[in-house]
Amino acid sequence: MHHMTLAEIARGLADKKFSSVELPQVLLARIAQLDPQLNSFISLTEELALSPAQAAAARRANGESGALLGAPIAHKDLFCTQGIRTSCGSKMLDNFKAPYDATVVARLAAAGTVTLGKTNMDEFAMGSANESSYYGAVKNPWNLEHVPGGSSGGSAAAVAARLLPAATATDPGGSIRQPAAFTNLTGLKPTYGRVSRWGMIAYASSLDQGGPLARTAEACAILLQGMAGFDPNDSPSIDEPVPDYSASLKGSLQGLRIGVPKEYFSAGLDPRIAELVHNSVKELEKLGAVIKEISLPNMQHAIPAYYVIAPAEASSNLSRFDGVRFGHRCENPENLIDLYKRSRGEGFGAEVQRRIMVGASALSAGYYDAYYLKAQKIRRLVKNDFMAAFNEVDIILGPTTPNPAWKLGAKNSDPVAEYLEDVYTITANLAGLPGLSMPAGFVDGLPVGVQLLAPYFQEGRLLNVAHQYQLNTDWHTRTPTGF
Ligand code: GLN
Repeated sequence: MHHMTLAEIARGLADKKFSSVELPQVLLARIAQLDPQLNSFISLTEELALSPAQAAAARRANGESGALLGAPIAHKDLFCTQGIRTSCGSKMLDNFKAPYDATVVARLAAAGTVTLGKTNMDEFAMGSANESSYYGAVKNPWNLEHVPGGSSGGSAAAVAARLLPAATATDPGGSIRQPAAFTNLTGLKPTYGRVSRWGMIAYASSLDQGGPLARTAEACAILLQGMAGFDPNDSPSIDEPVPDYSASLKGSLQGLRIGVPKEYFSAGLDPRIAELVHNSVKELEKLGAVIKEISLPNMQHAIPAYYVIAPAEASSNLSRFDGVRFGHRCENPENLIDLYKRSRGEGFGAEVQRRIMVGASALSAGYYDAYYLKAQKIRRLVKNDFMAAFNEVDIILGPTTPNPAWKLGAKNSDPVAEYLEDVYTITANLAGLPGLSMPAGFVDGLPVGVQLLAPYFQEGRLLNVAHQYQLNTDWHTRTPTGF
């Protein structure tokens, strides 16, 4: 049962092959048996799974249908879940029980999903390895000595290990696409404003965006359908109709113009990954796509710009965690300043503290123009590059990451080395564009992802291309040994 994709589960439930009450039992038993190796969950919500599962079964018995009705999922632990710990991977929020559900959580629950737990993540979504979590590192099911990617490493490891068919995740800088690439999954970062951020604990507000992580594009289409849509509670949420993503999977790729940026194939890219990217291009050409070389000349500036803008926003967002309004409070403070200092010093881990300092300094009067303002100008140039490229092509294709998943601990002493791994994903966040990563082969037994980017609100196009690719390749069907 655990090998079924989200779409197969939906069909099985519709055909009454099994019930939505059996599924959580099977998966929770698997989680109990296998997750100790992976550490992909922060909280399990076993006791809360039964009644939604029974409710979904009753709705189906009453003739209701819907691909998510009875589907077991988990939420990244930064989506607020009413009455359930929402830790954001931080000691700061270790005892925080959200008083309400995030819009994404509420929408998926209304569609009939059954939440099995909250997944592990880098602290406050800061990281590309899922090693900065207060709850310990997550392991990659493809090789337990390697990282699963971050910051949505728990969602990725759980789905890749077949503990769940799909999970929610967020991607302010690549945190859906990069772990998808590292664990052989399909992951979609929607257009900024497509999925509500309301009830998602903020990291970098102008970049934060939730989306689906699953094994196939077909499954991502199903989960995205339940997540997307206008939300008056979220100011950048855009009131655009949500298309039928499952219907968009079927389009032909005949004549589709795919742009491959020449800057992608620089010295930093593992040549074995470059070869797999070229293979995926050939596969799509066979399906009728037309390939064109394009240029994204400002791409080289994207990492420094992101690592100013994201920490700047984080330093502002995280100021609310002061031991008074929100978050961990130290024991026996001597006075108010001591309370702030020690509560924040104890509650935040090293990477979070580093980013708060970087961000606060970039926003300070003396440095604002030199760093923050300059980074915002670069952001516009990066966006302009994409706008020019999308005048010529329908999709941009390239590697998701320059290297496969690295060994646990390999980059701990050098944060910048880890930041550089975000080179291919971060530009889409700066521009607010949708992006998808799909499985495209293996290097040394570790999965490799290919990234597709599309113009605003063209999530359907991304899912279409990935689905057609997956109908003609079998990378996405490979399962890690032992799971
Ligand atoms: N790796 C990037 C960072 O550390 C992106 C993380 C993310 O998308 N949450 O900020």
